[in-house]
Amino acid sequence: MNCCNANGNCTQGRDCPIRKQRAKETNDAYINQNNGLEPDLLDDIAASIKGLIAVIVVVVTITLLAFGIWGK
Ligand SMILES: [Zn+2]
Repeated sequence: MNCCNANGNCTQGRDCPIRKQRAKETNDAYINQNNGLEPDLLDDIAASIKGLIAVIVVVVTITLLAFGIWGK
């Protein structure tokens, strides 16, 4: 199986099993990266919405407090 020498040259050329395995892993990593993109994006959106809701809650609370203090 160890057809490659220390310099990264292979006695089997393009048929090198290690080379094919590396190509497959690179391809799998690329696919996984693409699959991971969507959940990350959804997490970002969810975090943005939570931040927006927090801001709205604070603004509404301050508005209600203001009405409670100066509305009487
Ligand atoms: Zn090889």
